[in-house]
Amino acid sequence: MNKLMVISGPSGSGKGTVVELLKKKYEEENKKLYVSVSCTTREPREGEVDGKSYFFITEQEFEEKLNDHDFLEYNKYANGKYYGTPKSNVVKYLNDGYDVILEIDINGYRQIKENYPDVIGVFITLDDLDKLEERLRNRGTETEEQIQDRMNRAREEIKDKDEYPYVLINYEGKANETMEQVYNILNEISQ
Ligand code: 5GP
Repeated sequence: MNKLMVISGPSGSGKGTVVELLKKKYEEENKKLYVSVSCTTREPREGEVDGKSYFFITEQEFEEKLNDHDFLEYNKYANGKYYGTPKSNVVKYLNDGYDVILEIDINGYRQIKENYPDVIGVFITLDDLDKLEERLRNRGTETEEQIQDRMNRAREEIKDKDEYPYVLINYEGKANETMEQVYNILNEISQ
């Protein structure tokens, strides 16, 4: 049976890399995987592509979609930016037999669980929070204030990790091993 999985974790935990590796593995094995692309009202970061990283839309467009019930779940963060999972693609790919991954936060996970109780929750974290600050700083895309904001959010997010049946530690340089663990969960291969 194909699966719906939510992957959460603080930004900088490397969950994006893990998902990219998973996409490659599914391609190599000719298996079907769809990674949902969320809508957001935040500005694109350097290198982010519209329709790939996110669908970058205006607040007005987001609110229209919200009124039309076009989101499976959504959240508005303290910085005033909306994020949401478009419903139609997820439903379509699940019906077509794809495994579907949503890279969303705990609020989204809780909302999804209400409608899809079989959703598999995976929390990807790092062994040491200081490394997260280092990674965010090295990425160089955010101001000091934004970094501190993200660090505070990461500390909050990590507190909720026990709500997820799977908590994976993505050790430095071990993204491939973390990806294999996610792959095994999706394909019901015992660890
Ligand atoms: P970023 O701005 O770094 O791309 O993402 C910030 C946070 O938004 C991350 O914790 C990410 O998991 C979360 N996020 C991304 N897309 C969605 C979404 O569609 N719904 C929800 N609830 N959170 C999202």
